[in-house]
Amino acid sequence: FWSSCLSAFEAELTAQQFNTWIKPLAVEDGGDELRLLVPNKFVLQWVKDKFMARIQLLADEFFGKPVTIALTLHSPRTAAVSRKPEAAPAPTVVTEAVVAESRPASITAPSPAAEPAATRGRPVVDEYSRLNPNFTFDTFVTGKANQLARAAALQVAENPGVAYNPLFVYGGVGLGKTHLVQAIGNVVQQHNKKARIRYIHAEKYVGDVVKAYQHKAFEEFKRYYHSLDVLLIDDIQFFSGKNRTQEEFFYAFNALIEAHKQVIITCDTFPKEIENMEDRLISRFGWGLTVAIEPPELEMRVAILLKKAEQERVQLDENTAFFIAKHIRSNVRELEGALKRVLAYSRFTGQKVTLELAKEALKDLLAVQNRQVSVDNIQKTVADFYKIKVADMYSARRSRTIARPRQVAMALAKELTQLSLPDIGEAFGGRDHTTVLHACRKINELRAAEPEMAHDFNVLLQILKN
Ligand code: ADP
Ligand code: MG
Repeated sequence: FWSSCLSAFEAELTAQQFNTWIKPLAVEDGGDELRLLVPNKFVLQWVKDKFMARIQLLADEFFGKPVTIALTLHSPRTAAVSRKPEAAPAPTVVTEAVVAESRPASITAPSPAAEPAATRGRPVVDEYSRLNPNFTFDTFVTGKANQLARAAALQVAENPGVAYNPLFVYGGVGLGKTHLVQAIGNVVQQHNKKARIRYIHAEKYVGDVVKAYQHKAFEEFKRYYHSLDVLLIDDIQFFSGKNRTQEEFFYAFNALIEAHKQVIITCDTFPKEIENMEDRLISRFGWGLTVAIEPPELEMRVAILLKKAEQERVQLDENTAFFIAKHIRSNVRELEGALKRVLAYSRFTGQKVTLELAKEALKDLLAVQNRQVSVDNIQKTVADFYKIKVADMYSARRSRTIARPRQVAMALAKELTQLSLPDIGEAFGGRDHTTVLHACRKINELRAAEPEMAHDFNVLLQILKN
């Protein structure tokens, strides 16, 4: 039951929502009731409020009769369902293992051989370290929006360390940055099985620096990162304001470039627009080649849908693809989500994928879109109004001229859409819900205190409501 429940949710939710709330749950047969095991109180409340009704429906449907479902807290340490390894042993060992773990198998780790294997600490789930084999050039659809980036990436893949170093790829969320740079990694790995390639999300890298700090293990940290053949750092905007991380990365960057090893970086903005990043790093980002990935136009979105359908081995006719592509414009990830939803609906009802079926499957989604002002629209309108870039709505920049309009947009999103605070935070570059809450309060205060803000806000409301 649970696996069918999972696929239903995976189709209905964003990857972020799915991974945060649904994936960590486990089920247990509690006799006459079904127990959902939840890792903590916070998740429990959230699941109860947001997803319980849907889970109940899916369960009733699945079993063909009403089922009692209980949400139960469990401690991830003891529960059998926990996929995470047990707590780590002595600190020094942990760090060593963190470094060792991230190394491809062909490399001998510095010294963990001295440790009995069983006591060797394993890092807390290292989701980002491996290349995803599905992210290849073959599965990457090309169009005007990304052809330059793709061409550059291909060159780098064929001549790592030689063509462009570093390669800096930037663009908005869900546009294929991670896919493209991993495709490079996959090619290099294919050509040279022994190449030491490390893909790491910038947030994870920051975490590794913190660990190295805690365990005074910067030597090992350096030994590992400075000896790679290819280093892929994803979403480097996460380095913003993290001085020690920037410093360590500066050393790694220099060591690698000097040794003609390839560095590949992705970011949500152009290098100069990253806030709180050392100038010496920003200037180095421009040493090689900087390329953008733009949002795909309609035809390209159709091509992407057809490609994805082909990968899933389902028939998708062009009319249906056009219908989906016309309505889902934000980014490729959303596009994939919509297609998954259509496919899940088709599987569920046992009907073939047709235009009619797609309309039916996406009905709720589109109704919500139509009824509501979209966050996209709010961001564009507010950016326009204050003459700033739309990208600044989700960038890390904090200067007043940008932060204030961003807060206005968040407050408008709260007022005009049905989205929750975390959802709004997500739409504004993955900000925390407390940041959104703070923005709403601040803007309300200002509207009461400053006639100008009150006026601006009302004008924006009027524009957006029409
Ligand atoms: P980003 O890193 O820019 O946020 P991702 O690389 O994670 O975006 O892409 C989001 C999803 O969209 C992935 O599943 C990816 O495979 C898919 N995708 C993005 N661009 C393309 C493309 N040009 N062709 C095929 N799939 C794409
Ligand atoms: Mg990405």
